[in-house]
Amino acid sequence: MFRAFLHGRAWTHAEGSVTLFNHTAGWLRRHRVLLPGVNVLARHVSEVRTNAEKRLHATVAKAALRADPALPVDLVALQKTPEGTRYSELERMRRPPTRTTGTAMKGALQRVEDIAAFGLGRLKLEQIPPNRLSVLARYGLGTKAPKLERTAEPKGTAILTAVMRHLEAKAIDDALDLFEILMATRLISTAKRSTDKQRLSTLPQLEKASRIVARAAKVFIEKLESIEAAGGEVDVAALWRALEEVAPRSVMSGAAAIVVTLVPQDGDSAQTALRGALALRYNTVKPFLSLLGETPALEAATGGVRILAGVKKLPALSRGKVGEKPLLPREIDDKLVPPHWHQAVYANAEQPQGTVDRDAYACTWFNLKIGVQQESDIMFNKNKLWSTASTCSGSRYDLRGLAVHEFGHAFGLNHVAESTDQVMGDKSGYCDTYMRKLQRGDTLEMINRYK
Ligand SMILES: [Zn+2]
Repeated sequence: MFRAFLHGRAWTHAEGSVTLFNHTAGWLRRHRVLLPGVNVLARHVSEVRTNAEKRLHATVAKAALRADPALPVDLVALQKTPEGTRYSELERMRRPPTRTTGTAMKGALQRVEDIAAFGLGRLKLEQIPPNRLSVLARYGLGTKAPKLERTAEPKGTAILTAVMRHLEAKAIDDALDLFEILMATRLISTAKRSTDKQRLSTLPQLEKASRIVARAAKVFIEKLESIEAAGGEVDVAALWRALEEVAPRSVMSGAAAIVVTLVPQDGDSAQTALRGALALRYNTVKPFLSLLGETPALEAATGGVRILAGVKKLPALSRGKVGEKPLLPREIDDKLVPPHWHQAVYANAEQPQGTVDRDAYACTWFNLKIGVQQESDIMFNKNKLWSTASTCSGSRYDLRGLAVHEFGHAFGLNHVAESTDQVMGDKSGYCDTYMRKLQRGDTLEMINRYK
């Protein structure tokens, strides 16, 4: 029994010798087994731990070999530094994107593609405790390349397999994170900054024009009022003479035109200007646009699928082709152009009337939320009574049960009818300890969501 405990613990827990030793001693004491000498026990623990590690390395390496006989060789080859570069392919792949530029985004998408090409998701590793694999991956990510290269087999293959498997998901997360940051910093806010700046620079011009228009309006109203009071006829020539004392006729109509141009016609035109500027930022998006259409990264996000569908069609509408043959409204999906984008997409003054501004159309896509949940908070109401005991009693809520329910929400699960007796039921009462364990329906819903 003791041997079963030690071997089991060493296999499922990726823990150090000291921790494993303490757990083992604790187990012996709890089961009232006479403790052997410390040295004997320490040696025993260390042996079992080493065996568990060897078993892990052999199992992972074998799974890689079984999936594809060429895979271990390809993985080891990742450590070679290609001609003319400073880093090995492994170094490049394990490094997350650090800059927020269109080119960095292109690199991030390329990284997703290169890592996915190894197809490590197909490896059958279900029998290995997930935490063991992540500890192995962390070791591989944190170890310097030369040391990693000297690792003996099958440990070397096992580490590289764990690292690349870990990076498969990580690279997608990194690409999506960068995408969000890029949208927020490079696209939206630079566009906003540039329109704000542009508006500020026109302010003196606008003030001068407004003063002329206001003085002319004042003279005009006074003249009309005095004519009305005297009951006389309108003398057009006299009216003009009075107005021209304010400013020459051409200056006056020029001022009126400036006010019309610079003052928003409606509350939304600042937004329209913003979107016009946003469309100019198309150049930031351009480097990675064609890759974006191919990447599995966006498929991982709910909103991403919609962006993907539109983005796939964009490279076909390249700048050169648009120059020869303007893009027409019937060629785009107008349902995907939000109303507040209409001005920028359909009414660019610099393009022939009735044509679509391709760059603005492309940018509408990046305005869509890709919808990756980044984090969630769970709060427990301090005004309620909570039970943390293993057997809950009285007018208390079972903390563990409700925590499991709330974690269900964090994983994206919605409520189901209470009558189904699932953790995600829409009502809960005191001491609902059954919620501590996922019920069949909960498990099926989780599988369905993350398969
Ligand atoms: Zn709930």
